[in-house]
Amino acid sequence: MRRSLRILLPYLLRYKRNLTLGAAALLGRNLLAVSLPLLIAAAVDSLTAGFRFSIVLWLCAGLVGLSAAKGICQYWMRVILIGISRDIEYDLRNDLFGHLVKLSQDFFARYRTGDIMARATNDLNAVRMMLGPGLMYSTDTIVTAVLAITVMASVDWLLTLVMLLPAPLVTLAVMVFGRRIHRRFERIQELFSDISSRVQENISGVRIIRAYVQEQSELQQFEMLNQDYIRQNLRLAKISGLFMPALHGLIGLTFLLVLWAGGYRLLTGQITIGNFLMFNVFMGMLIWPMIALGWVVNLVQRGNASLFRLHGVLSDSPSIAPPSAPRELPEPLAGAVEFRNVHVRYSAVHAVRGVTLSIPVGATVAFVGHTGSGKSTLLQLVPRMLDPDSGAVLVDGIDLREVSPSALRRQIGFVPQETFLFSATLAENIAFGVKSASEEEIRRAADLAGLTPDVEGFPAGFQTMIGERGITLSGGQKQRTAIARAILRDPRILILDDALSSVDTLTEERVLRGLSEIMRGRTTILVSHRVSTVRHADRIFVIENGAVAEEGTHAELLSLKGYYADLHLKQQLEEELQAI
Ligand code: ADP
Ligand code: MG
Repeated sequence: MRRSLRILLPYLLRYKRNLTLGAAALLGRNLLAVSLPLLIAAAVDSLTAGFRFSIVLWLCAGLVGLSAAKGICQYWMRVILIGISRDIEYDLRNDLFGHLVKLSQDFFARYRTGDIMARATNDLNAVRMMLGPGLMYSTDTIVTAVLAITVMASVDWLLTLVMLLPAPLVTLAVMVFGRRIHRRFERIQELFSDISSRVQENISGVRIIRAYVQEQSELQQFEMLNQDYIRQNLRLAKISGLFMPALHGLIGLTFLLVLWAGGYRLLTGQITIGNFLMFNVFMGMLIWPMIALGWVVNLVQRGNASLFRLHGVLSDSPSIAPPSAPRELPEPLAGAVEFRNVHVRYSAVHAVRGVTLSIPVGATVAFVGHTGSGKSTLLQLVPRMLDPDSGAVLVDGIDLREVSPSALRRQIGFVPQETFLFSATLAENIAFGVKSASEEEIRRAADLAGLTPDVEGFPAGFQTMIGERGITLSGGQKQRTAIARAILRDPRILILDDALSSVDTLTEERVLRGLSEIMRGRTTILVSHRVSTVRHADRIFVIENGAVAEEGTHAELLSLKGYYADLHLKQQLEEELQAI
């Protein structure tokens, strides 16, 4: 409890004023509620002393007035306190999203999309229920109980004591059941995550599933998960279902005790009829809080579990963060890139092993090599999507760990190996990240990326809606859209990770010619498996097993007669075969 309070306190403190108002309404409601039975007792006792009609009238008026005032307080208590929980839910959701966009790649490798979605929906909801009804009813219950018991004890402490005898049993039942309910609920939340992930993966991969005719097997697996979900929910329902009757049984027992002990004390003249009646009314008043307590315990348990799950994400700090005192990057950058004995390890793979190389300002360099040799990893170091485990990557002589990643990335055009398009129009996709782009600039970027002939064929030109992840475009069109996006940023350093792999050689040549024009005096880093793409680069690096195996110009590498010369020969033969 204390830990979750520490997490939530900053949020709660933002609503201090409303919390005070809500607490005042809650206290008012309780004071009025407790005075009702007192009024009844006083009225009944004065009636037994001697009947007068005016007393009945006053009694009625008083009861109506008190009840109305209590109702008004109750209304405001709910509106204000539940309102706060909605506000905090809003804040938490914003914080969660704000945090998610900051987290580095390793986080998204650890969490599945469905898990994250479950946190943003189910868990957030559970936290809100804990903060709203949970906090409100538990405070309300405690205040009601304290007030009612104080009043009752001042009238007849012995009877109060008898009445409270089953209370420890209630607490015990709530604790025992609560713990079980909590465990089962956690399991259900985990399962829900699994189901969300599964649905998300199936929707994203729907084309693969159809192509491999896996619909039935996916359905079966989904059904199994769903069955398990039902089973676990039933388990929870069973125990929750036991909880309520147990509670009601204990409440009945309490009533029995009051009737028995109270009746005895009434007969022996130790309390008045009015007071006996008052005890019964108080008992009735305490039933709801006792039931609410059971419900609230569930809410708080669930909320707590969810809060820690949320906190797990919120406290995951981005592994690539701006340093506390970032160094200013020159703007614009000159664009010299240097790798100094760089090593990168993923959990199981030593992907980059001691790469040292430098790329002068304005040069075009290319990396070639087998898949899995570490090319993409090397490129990701430049916009600081990754940090090296040892060694350093420098831009214009500044170690990238000393600068703010966003300031760096603003000056880099990065086209990753796997392009991503948003479900928006083509123009919006190209202008992503450059809010002020004019239509003319978008057109020019698209033209340079060789996209113009394709756009002319689209029904709505640049305003064509692209399906989610660009599902309506061909691979080559997607890649060129991504290139146009990178060009539009007017980058000082352009990085293309195999970004022309799905483009035919003719178009590729045209795109490269366009690029070399606008990238004149700027740095371009290419990865490709095609000699035709890289042959005009100022310098070519052959990467093998995470290290530089060969380097030089096209001509120099050919004379080395190594991997590059082989690759060249093979592709030349292929070309000749195709020409036949
Ligand atoms: P290339 O781009 O040359 O194909 P990569 O840089 O993508 O090579 O990968 C280099 C090695 O690192 C490969 O063995 C690959 O399996 C591994 N690798 C790449 N990315 C990750 C990752 N996010 N987590 C773990 N291993 C990775
Ligand atoms: Mg790669």
